[in-house]
Amino acid sequence: MKRNDEMRIESYRDREMRSRRRRERELRKTKMILINAAIALVVILVVFVIAIIKLNGKNNSNIKNYTNKNVSEKSKTRDSSKSKTKKDSSKQKKPAATSTAVPADSNSMGDGTKKWIRTDLDKDKPMIALSFDDGPYTPVTGKILKVLKKYDSRATFFVVGNRVNTYSKVLKESYDMGNQIASHTFDHEDLSKMTKKQLSAEMTKTNKALQSVIGCHASLIRPPYGNISDLMRKNIKIPMIYWSIDTDDWKWRNAAKVLAECKNVQDGDIILMHDLYSSTADAVKKLVPRLKKKGYQLVTIDEMFYYKGIKAEAGKVYASGRQ
Ligand SMILES: [Zn+2]
Repeated sequence: MKRNDEMRIESYRDREMRSRRRRERELRKTKMILINAAIALVVILVVFVIAIIKLNGKNNSNIKNYTNKNVSEKSKTRDSSKSKTKKDSSKQKKPAATSTAVPADSNSMGDGTKKWIRTDLDKDKPMIALSFDDGPYTPVTGKILKVLKKYDSRATFFVVGNRVNTYSKVLKESYDMGNQIASHTFDHEDLSKMTKKQLSAEMTKTNKALQSVIGCHASLIRPPYGNISDLMRKNIKIPMIYWSIDTDDWKWRNAAKVLAECKNVQDGDIILMHDLYSSTADAVKKLVPRLKKKGYQLVTIDEMFYYKGIKAEAGKVYASGRQ
């Protein structure tokens, strides 16, 4: 009997031991499963985060591409147009070539020039192209850029090549904003008095200066003093740009007078100003919201031509978007 009891106890212990071991095994198994699941979860999370980061980067560059998209029509060299003389204030020297300011990823024209054209403008809404000569000049150009930025507007800056390095920061800022950077020669000399060789040297010099700061050449030029010769029409390989409204800002140096000159603007106008005078910046501060309120889109000259269906040709002169 005693023996029997002992055997029973023995077998009870065995059973208990076995069951404890089983439980321990199951516990270990469950732990392993949980750990594996946790590892898998972490891996999935990491992959997910990487995917999101990548996607984000792609979207950003898409947005950038879109915003700065430059659809282009080509401007090539050609010439024709008449000489005219107009006043142009400024005391710089050296000729230059033109460049359309285009952000880093806009279309290259294959000839070193680029075009900056926003694709989201409304071609049925009126347009005005503000243009500024003789800069850049940080104290004034900077103020103008601020206004343009605030009102989601663009303008064209006909810069003087010999100022490009000194004011490279504000020029780059302007370019990055989507403003068109064009040529007003390298040192603001009268191109109509130059020989073919001099003209060519002038363009090359300006393009070099522009290239070093904004990475592209000028695709438009505004001849200093508005002077144009037959030789220029024949030898300048980009379109030449006049204006349809002259604010005479250099003469007035008075914001109210500049604003008065812009009273009768109409669709397609190219307005001439100079980013050298603080009175001009003051005028722009009022003019831009005023024009926007009237429903005008403030555009680059490239945009004006593009939306108005004007194929600007090299060596020809354009004074508005109403050709
Ligand atoms: Zn000038």
